[in-house]
Amino acid sequence: MAEFRLFLKPLADIRSALRQAGRAAARGPRPSDPRLRDLACHGLHFPAERLISTAKIESTPAPVGARARPRRHAAMRPAAGVPGTRPSTSPEEHLQEMTTPLEIVFARLDAAHEATCAVLAGPDLALSPAVQSLDGLSGGQLVKAAEAAEFKGKQKTAIEILAPQQLDMQRLLLVGTGKAAEQEESDWATIGGHALGQIAARKTLAASLVAEVARPGDTRPETIAANLAFGALLRHYAFRKYLTKKTGDDGNGTDNGEQKPAADRLSKLVVHCVDPEKAKAAFEAKRAVADGIYVARDLVNEPANVLGPVEFAERVKALEHTGLEVEILDDAALKALGMNTLLSVAQGSARPARVAIMQWHGAKSKRAKPLAFVGKGVVFDTGGISIKPAAGMEDMKGDMGGAAAVVGLMVALAARKAPVNAIGAIGLVENMPSGTATRPGDIVVSLSGQTVENLNTDAEGRLVLADVLWYVQDRFKPRFVIDLATLTGAIMVALGKSFAGLFANDDKLADQLIAASKATGEKVWRMPLDKSYDRMMDSKNADVKNMGGRWGGACTAAAFLKRFIKADVAWAHLDIAGTAMDAPKSEINASWGSGWGVQLLDRFIAENYEKGEK
Ligand SMILES: [Zn+2]
Repeated sequence: MAEFRLFLKPLADIRSALRQAGRAAARGPRPSDPRLRDLACHGLHFPAERLISTAKIESTPAPVGARARPRRHAAMRPAAGVPGTRPSTSPEEHLQEMTTPLEIVFARLDAAHEATCAVLAGPDLALSPAVQSLDGLSGGQLVKAAEAAEFKGKQKTAIEILAPQQLDMQRLLLVGTGKAAEQEESDWATIGGHALGQIAARKTLAASLVAEVARPGDTRPETIAANLAFGALLRHYAFRKYLTKKTGDDGNGTDNGEQKPAADRLSKLVVHCVDPEKAKAAFEAKRAVADGIYVARDLVNEPANVLGPVEFAERVKALEHTGLEVEILDDAALKALGMNTLLSVAQGSARPARVAIMQWHGAKSKRAKPLAFVGKGVVFDTGGISIKPAAGMEDMKGDMGGAAAVVGLMVALAARKAPVNAIGAIGLVENMPSGTATRPGDIVVSLSGQTVENLNTDAEGRLVLADVLWYVQDRFKPRFVIDLATLTGAIMVALGKSFAGLFANDDKLADQLIAASKATGEKVWRMPLDKSYDRMMDSKNADVKNMGGRWGGACTAAAFLKRFIKADVAWAHLDIAGTAMDAPKSEINASWGSGWGVQLLDRFIAENYEKGEK
């Protein structure tokens, strides 16, 4: 319990930082994505204090149709930043909290509704008892409006009924679910995200979501409610911390000078359900995962001037309040260890490398073999001396998406007190060209002892991973190791931006990951590991070279990594260059940095490595 209290306190701290979240600028596809270079290649500072939602239960029943008074939002403090100045090396210092976190409250079906209320409808306008009762009170207005709008309850459709008769609310949103009995957990999250999008578009500070559906099939009502809330929370995320203007504009050209929260920032969602206690309990584990995803998204969205290797490591160190044990290896320690391939990537940057090791001890036995996760954390990738083209290079602040996902996963495991032992290890470097930078043709001795010839300094991610992978296997003797990296443009050529490439030397591990992928909607596609790719990595000057030629770039990159995996170790590599950033927006993700991988790996662990551990 002592541990639990320790965690609660920091979550409160985290909330203040969460409020700093902002919305990433929407951007179209880039004509010249630096990740698309034929080479490979391609890890953050989030306020540890960032975080998340709170879940409460409101149990005061009120007459159906009665509405709670909208809560007045707390006045926001004026931003102290200097408008018009560019972010300095530490723009955060100038910024105030600009956004509100989403408070999720579970309430009974008969509790008072907020002025904006979303309810669910299935195919052919199948309405749950609670919604039928609202329709009855309004004299059948809901059904009449749905018929007039030809709304049938299909998924991702919705209609709005303004000022419904006899119901004390400003608007009622009818949101389609499709066939409820056929929906999986992840579908309910998608529906929750869609409902949140509909609510947020109405620019309201508080809203109700009636989480009761007609003909739900076998899915328990609390599971539906928890997943709806989960999807809503993920959809709510926005990275707005560097937006200092317009929040006081009332839209009519007048500005009373008072900073207000942006008008569309919902701050409270009341989820009405049959059993709020059960729903809240079911939501706890989902909220832990959402916490991890928020952390990962923040890290990816943060600009590289704010988030260098040192700052990223500091943010990870600050996570110890969650119950994680964190060690930071500085450049002197990395030199002493012999992580020379990692250091060779960092040597062109004025900012020194770091490796962060997170440990979560949740298993009954402290000696239970840990599960290991390794992430690529290149805080910014210019390509080094093999420099990238200018167009779109700014996206290379996201080249630490693998490290971000590993940190997010570790946060989720700690937040839900997962009964496993897990290691998260991330290599943090910046790849810059300079007089001290690594040259093409340089040969270095990796931590494993193998020599590596660097033929293109933009294929740097694998060099970072090689040493961290070796270190983790050597020191922790893990049950398996899984790495995540925004590694190659080639994986996007092969799979596009909706799937991550999965490479594995172990079929069971691959199958478990594919099953978790299907359950969460974070898609993976298995790619080949083969001798033919391995041979392409042979070098005439060293044991291995860091690039294999024009074709099969994602596969040769994986073949390179495999040379740093010990013979008896089960290993999987996830190439997330397409999915970690600037991925297609979805009902549960409107952010540039997606936090991809946190949900997948949390589910993979929960399904396969926790049973019998409790
Ligand atoms: Zn690169």
